[in-house]
Amino acid sequence: MSYEDNQSDRYQARQQRIKEKVDAKIASATEERGIVIVITGNGKGKSTSGFGTVARAVGHGLKCGVAQFIKGTWDNGERNLLEKLGVTFHVMATGFTWETQNKATDTAAAQAVWEKCQQMLQDETLNVVLLDELTYMVSYGYVPLEEVLTALQQRPPMQTVIITGRGAHRELLDLADTVSEVKNVKHAFQAGVKAQQGIDW
Ligand code: ATP
Ligand code: MG
Repeated sequence: MSYEDNQSDRYQARQQRIKEKVDAKIASATEERGIVIVITGNGKGKSTSGFGTVARAVGHGLKCGVAQFIKGTWDNGERNLLEKLGVTFHVMATGFTWETQNKATDTAAAQAVWEKCQQMLQDETLNVVLLDELTYMVSYGYVPLEEVLTALQQRPPMQTVIITGRGAHRELLDLADTVSEVKNVKHAFQAGVKAQQGIDW
């Protein structure tokens, strides 16, 4: 047998072993239920990942709801698109940003949106719920962690919830089924590039 043929056989045998392992894993994943996904970390890509999943779900005809706990200072590309496609949005009314923080008004505004979230988390007709930047509301103490955990645990079994934001609480990570941490390798802003419509918001 030539060197090339030998290499090719070994490659095929290895691929076959990988395929068997993957097939076995696919066969053993039989449970059908909604999941909790947390997208956290300091890199760019958390909210866009959440909205990407909502777009995917809408594309399959699923019903989705979105709550946004941090309203950017700019208008919001995802909302402009997805509201037209029947996605319900609940956005914090005060225009809370990282710069302006007023404990009393922010708590009231956060809790108003959180009440809408609790309704979404009881709504069996909603397949996917995105809670964008919820992690900050928990870290700042604007929304009690216990209420978040309870609402997630008691949601309809087929409903999937996506939570985004930096510094997700340990207990939220424990409760989640899927957790991804987006790592900041570099960001154009640090090199002096301005935030851009359609890219950053
Ligand atoms: P995106 O909405 O683009 O997915 P994100 O949700 O991961 O970003 P946030 O922490 O919510 O990030 O910040 C939102 C805004 O801040 C976006 O305009 C994003 O480009 C910018 N941003 C995100 N990460 C960084 C970073 N590491 N350095 C500077 N700016 C960032
Ligand atoms: Mg975000």
